[in-house]
Amino acid sequence: MDIRSGVTLWELNDAAWRWPAMAPRPGRCDVAIIGAGVTGAFLAERLTREGHSVVVIDRRGAQRGATAASTALVLWETDQPLVLLEQRIGFEAAASVFRRGYEAVRGIRALGRALGAQCDWRDQESLYLAGDMLDGAALRDEAAIRACAGLESHWCDEAELYARADIVAAAALRAPGAAILNPVALTRALLAAAIGRGAVLCEGVGAFSYALDAAEVAVRLDDGGVLRAGSLVLATGYEMPPMVRGAGHTINSTWVLATAVTQAWRAPAVVWEASESYAYMRGAGGRVLIGGADEENISAAARDALMARKIDELRAKLAALAPAMADAPIELAWSGFFGVTRDSLPLIGAVPGAPRAYAAYGYGGNGVTFSAIAADVIARMLAGERDRDEAIFALDRFA
Ligand SMILES: Cc1cc2nc3c(=O)[nH]c(=O)nc-3n(C[C@H](O)[C@H](O)[C@H](O)COP(=O)(O)OP(=O)(O)OC[C@H]3O[C@@H](n4cnc5c(N)ncnc54)[C@H](O)[C@@H]3O)c2cc1C
Repeated sequence: MDIRSGVTLWELNDAAWRWPAMAPRPGRCDVAIIGAGVTGAFLAERLTREGHSVVVIDRRGAQRGATAASTALVLWETDQPLVLLEQRIGFEAAASVFRRGYEAVRGIRALGRALGAQCDWRDQESLYLAGDMLDGAALRDEAAIRACAGLESHWCDEAELYARADIVAAAALRAPGAAILNPVALTRALLAAAIGRGAVLCEGVGAFSYALDAAEVAVRLDDGGVLRAGSLVLATGYEMPPMVRGAGHTINSTWVLATAVTQAWRAPAVVWEASESYAYMRGAGGRVLIGGADEENISAAARDALMARKIDELRAKLAALAPAMADAPIELAWSGFFGVTRDSLPLIGAVPGAPRAYAAYGYGGNGVTFSAIAADVIARMLAGERDRDEAIFALDRFA
């Protein structure tokens, strides 16, 4: 399955990059992680730090899935604003998710520093623009409920927004604590840390079936091998094996444009809309990335056929939201599948009915933040502890 198309910004000068020679794959390990995107990488780093022996399997190769397509806005706010998430899951649970996202972004920053990761991390504020989900008045309510959850944000009107960032919208919420980074570089740094602690990364080999019982997990690989493990963690991105497929999530398609290097971008912020299908923007080394124009449930071929139309759509959106960018040449365009859940929250935890199996699917626009949370939740579960948000992220919560 072509989960994405086009060359992304992070791959531009990356063709020659190779991992150093890896230790041979052992026949058995404590934890087998399937998928070496940002999710598998956070897990591998965390679980090796806690002393587990880990093997990471990826049929495409590390960070060649959705992670390489990510625009890597690192947000603590979820796709559903707190004011709507509260209606769905209650205030305490919704506030807990938002606060956990905030802690997770701080944790990623600290971990990146501790690992010496050169991943172009930049602290930024987020600008959440009035859209079709929340208008200017509803953004005031959002600010109020965030304040009740102990989270800071500031409402600003059209004039203040334009004066600060050259962005056009009826109103916006400014919030501290977001960031931008290079997702491929972060994933590599996490995997390198895990490999340094003895993890083995196996690229170009796929897992195609899993035998699970009370004693162990046997992962059958498409090179004819079998990997035995104490536990299995599925981090396969938008390609879910049948044992975790279920109600409550959809695979959409999404598009991204990157402008040429420009002086015209003045917003020291990640910018996104309070809309069902939102556009979002960030700077990247003098370029601007704009993403969005999502389509529900279409094939990879249909996604590719729409590229020219989506470029026009996103260019028009860029000109509308950031008029100073209207004439910026577009240098790159890419697209990919993008999973969303009904409540915009990730699917993390034990796989129902599958002993020793866990899953980490950070669906929604918070892939990076949710991946870090997934590593935290699953590490706790493997240690036999409960996680306070276990029920909120449970895989069977839509059943
Ligand atoms: C265009 C776009 C923009 C995005 N922008 C943002 C953003 O700004 N901020 C943000 O936080 N998130 C964003 N996301 C979401 C983010 O990219 C994802 O949530 C995140 O990268 C998912 O990481 P992952 O490791 O779970 O999946 P992936 O990176 O797809 O990794 C999964 C890996 O599993 C491997 N795999 C699958 N099945 C098997 C198998 N059977 N055997 C072996 N290997 C297997 C695949 O080869 C793949 O490499 C964006 C996504 C897209 C597509």
